[in-house]
Amino acid sequence: MIDEELISRAIADDDDAMEELTEIADSEPERLVPYLGRLLDADVLWPATMYRYAPADVVERIIALVDGDGVTGARLLALANSRHQLAFEAMRRWIDQPPAGMDTLHVGMREYAEEGGWTIDPDGSRRDLCGDAAFEWHLREAPEPLFNPACPWCASPLWTAADLDGAEPGLAHVGWTGRLRFRTCHFCSCYTTLFSEVTPDGGSTWWAGNVRPDYLGAAQPEEPPTKLPSPGPARGNPFQASAWSAGGSTLGGHPQWIQDAEHPGCPGCGRTMDYVGLLGGADFDEYGEGAYYLHVHSACGFAAVTYQQS
Ligand SMILES: [Zn+2]
Ligand SMILES: [Zn+2]
Repeated sequence: MIDEELISRAIADDDDAMEELTEIADSEPERLVPYLGRLLDADVLWPATMYRYAPADVVERIIALVDGDGVTGARLLALANSRHQLAFEAMRRWIDQPPAGMDTLHVGMREYAEEGGWTIDPDGSRRDLCGDAAFEWHLREAPEPLFNPACPWCASPLWTAADLDGAEPGLAHVGWTGRLRFRTCHFCSCYTTLFSEVTPDGGSTWWAGNVRPDYLGAAQPEEPPTKLPSPGPARGNPFQASAWSAGGSTLGGHPQWIQDAEHPGCPGCGRTMDYVGLLGGADFDEYGEGAYYLHVHSACGFAAVTYQQS
């Protein structure tokens, strides 16, 4: 049971209370469910992750607010995080019939949905991009040296970010059969999304269509990390990945974004790629920062690595 006082303090805009609620939204989001109506009464919609298990009546109230007096980013983020079927149906409707105020927002309805870990495909169907199951992902020294070709941009040896068995339960939502290897440049992936072509025998090849950003200057080749992640015990819920803390690397589940959600589009088909896992900089070394995010679109055989930092 959450202290009533905590909710009252959050409603009074107390920073410590908001921080505590943000943590609860990741560790035990279901505990917030009885209080969401009160928070909504007080127009407390941030952090939107508080609405992860919002029940139908709360979701319906937010939809009515949008239909009644217009859309705000905060309302869409709360709906996206609820992942509720009613939220999907409303957001799909608003793609064709934009609610009042939609022209003041900087991104579209699909981008908002993706903040909650799901998308609306071009045919109007819903697709979850993230997994229901999440597993600790422990970084260990690779059992044998990793011999990889060099990055065509910076000449660093390519980095094996992960080497997975498609049967891993943390990968159940991506539908990959065989071995799935992520090979990318640890340096250049900090500057732009890097795609690889992947095959079920573990093949992972730099995609020739990767676009080198102009601001990526000449760099000295660097040795990539020699640690490989291996899956550990299941986490208590899908939301416990941490992009900040040591031990936060997680296979499956939902990412913790440092910036806005960033689910890349598949170079093969243009659809949004499925999310695979997060590797936190703090798990590579004690001064490490930022986080790498791994994605795949199994049907097309494309993998991607993105990176965010504060
Ligand atoms: Zn590179
Ligand atoms: Zn695709």
